[in-house]
Amino acid sequence: PVAFANTPEPIADAIFALTEAYNADPNPDKINLGQGAYKDNTGSPWILPSVRGAEAKLAQHPPGHEYLHRFGHAAFRRLSAEVAFGAGSRVLAEGRVASLQTISGSGAVHLAAAFLHTLYPNSLVYVPDPSWSNHRVMFEAAGFAVRDYAYYDPQARSIAFDALLADLRAAPAGSIVVLHACAHNPTGCDLTPAQWSDVASVLRDRGHIPVVDSAYQGFASGDLDADAHAIRLLLDELALPGVLCQSFSKSMGLYGERAGAIHVVVHGIAEPAAVVARIEGQIAWIARKEYTTPARYGAELVTAVLSDPGLYAQWREDLVTMSTRLRTMRAAIQANLRELRAPADDNWDHVTTQIGMFWFSGLSRPQALWLRRERHVYLAESGRVSLTGVNEGNVRRLCEAIRDAVE
Ligand code: PMP
Repeated sequence: PVAFANTPEPIADAIFALTEAYNADPNPDKINLGQGAYKDNTGSPWILPSVRGAEAKLAQHPPGHEYLHRFGHAAFRRLSAEVAFGAGSRVLAEGRVASLQTISGSGAVHLAAAFLHTLYPNSLVYVPDPSWSNHRVMFEAAGFAVRDYAYYDPQARSIAFDALLADLRAAPAGSIVVLHACAHNPTGCDLTPAQWSDVASVLRDRGHIPVVDSAYQGFASGDLDADAHAIRLLLDELALPGVLCQSFSKSMGLYGERAGAIHVVVHGIAEPAAVVARIEGQIAWIARKEYTTPARYGAELVTAVLSDPGLYAQWREDLVTMSTRLRTMRAAIQANLRELRAPADDNWDHVTTQIGMFWFSGLSRPQALWLRRERHVYLAESGRVSLTGVNEGNVRRLCEAIRDAVE
């Protein structure tokens, strides 16, 4: 046999296939509503002014290209934890958090799965239905059996909260539960603070371990603290031991730089230092076996922003700029669809009640395929629309196409 000739067909990841189809389409009016990467109102990628400031700082004081410590960039680890938990948080003051720099949010989720599997190989992992598709893929790849818990009710276009609680209650004690910190991908539906409290009670009663995936802090509401409500409630205030996976891809527009962190929070031990050190060592050992050390430049940029009060203030403004633009596009989509008398059971209320980067439109797979084929509008077959590709120049045309698709 010829070496490599029997390589099987790879699994096709739908979102990459969609981007490739969009790129291959020669139509100048095509609209890209696939991958979640922020674009400005002209449809161009946006380098945040705060990040531009950080780039200028690094150009003046180049950090060089030495390897990072195996745990990552020291200041980045501390400052990223402060963004998530709050600078004055109890867990940080008490030294309860093991923090390591990762290959962005994906790397954090992967290391969370691999680390948890070393401790709890027989636990079930619960992911929301639906979720970011990589959650299931990564936890299964780590060796876990993965189950869904109810999350979204497509008829009601809202969270299936009673079913969600029932599923988490019915899960075997000590299960691992993946939760989206904010701006749930793909539904755009987040729990209310009261609902988070109810979920926390079930997690505590059942001894479940939360894995909180935070890929959109500041991007949902424009406010870093508001978007950290679930993180801080579960992992600090209510003292649940758990894992936080953190990404700066969206919040700083650093997609290709792969800046992120994993934070493992230890509770129930008065002197956590020794356990925290062992956790950091164990996770670094997993990374050692896979890629040795994380990447430098993105962590330098994040650190430059977070360590400079002026750039930090600019970043908060940048988050408002991005989240406001997306909210404005939601309102424009809703107004246009109503004006065009496009039929919808809720008259398009849900477009503006959802939050974050994605509009979970309820468009069916055939409608999504029709929009692609007939109108050069590229959205996921699940009906998920990345709002980042919508702007003042294309929103009317997009809504006319959607009206034609649903009629
Ligand atoms: N988690 C969720 C929920 C996401 O939506 C994403 C990005 N689509 C990620 C994690 C990972 O992104 P990255 O690896 O770029 O940080």
